[in-house]
Amino acid sequence: MNLIIGSHVSYTKDEGLLGSVKEALSYNENTFMFYTGAPQNTFRTEINKEKVKEAKELMENKNINIKNVIIHAPYIINLANDNEEKYNFAINFLKQELKRATELGIDKIVLHPGSHVGIGEEKGLENIAKALNVVLNEKEGPIICLETMAGKGTELGKTFEEIKYIIDNVKNNNRLMVCLDTCHLNDAGYDITNFDNLLDEFDKIIGIEKIGCIHINDSKNEKGSHKDRHENIGIGTIGFDSLIKIIYHDKLKEVSKILETPYISMDGGKDRTYPPYKFEIEMIRNKKYNENLLEDIRKNYK
Ligand code: FE
Ligand code: FE
Ligand code: ZN
Repeated sequence: MNLIIGSHVSYTKDEGLLGSVKEALSYNENTFMFYTGAPQNTFRTEINKEKVKEAKELMENKNINIKNVIIHAPYIINLANDNEEKYNFAINFLKQELKRATELGIDKIVLHPGSHVGIGEEKGLENIAKALNVVLNEKEGPIICLETMAGKGTELGKTFEEIKYIIDNVKNNNRLMVCLDTCHLNDAGYDITNFDNLLDEFDKIIGIEKIGCIHINDSKNEKGSHKDRHENIGIGTIGFDSLIKIIYHDKLKEVSKILETPYISMDGGKDRTYPPYKFEIEMIRNKKYNENLLEDIRKNYK
């Protein structure tokens, strides 16, 4: 079976999409996800058409289907906001991101629904739906995948019902899908180790055909902790076997699986860290847990 798997990769100002493709290939991935600029600010460089062309040629040669590639919207966008200035800013910026996605030829953008920052869940959800109606005012265009959140602080989208509310209240919701994040689901209180049940529940509330992307992460915390701290595959509270079941699930074959697990440091320090993805993906492809995962990564980058 052809597993569609990748990770978060960088997008640099010089290389742009071409650099992202090269990085994904270096980890043996056949898809990837990236921010089109720094996630914590809205400074964006112009898209280099030559590099995009090169990137697309490389993808074609290496059997990466661009339909499976994902953009992640910057996390500073908060559509639940009540502050008019910030709200309008978020809407305009997201519109720009959709335009950039179109220019790059990418169909899907993952978005954190937003945090209500004190105005209450109901009002926050209302604001999100209202904003998405402005952003998605046209019937056609890239799809926004609403990410399931851990419920840290005042985050919305921590239950399937909240996501469903948003989808139901956006007119062009043919352009809305969902990104399941395994760490977030666990931290939000869902039992991810019983994935068939969870998928049934999702199907009843939202519909399985709406799953547009899956973030594959282990979690540092217990179910229901509302913490949102990702852990490397197999090392956290979800565990290798449960994640493998999700990754190879029959009903999710066509969905991109993206790793967002933490980089590894040599000595526990924070000064320099290294990507774990090549090693985690090897483990996933082999369906066999590597007890020496962290040591192998450290050895490789030494
Ligand atoms: Fe995310
Ligand atoms: Fe995620
Ligand atoms: Zn997260």
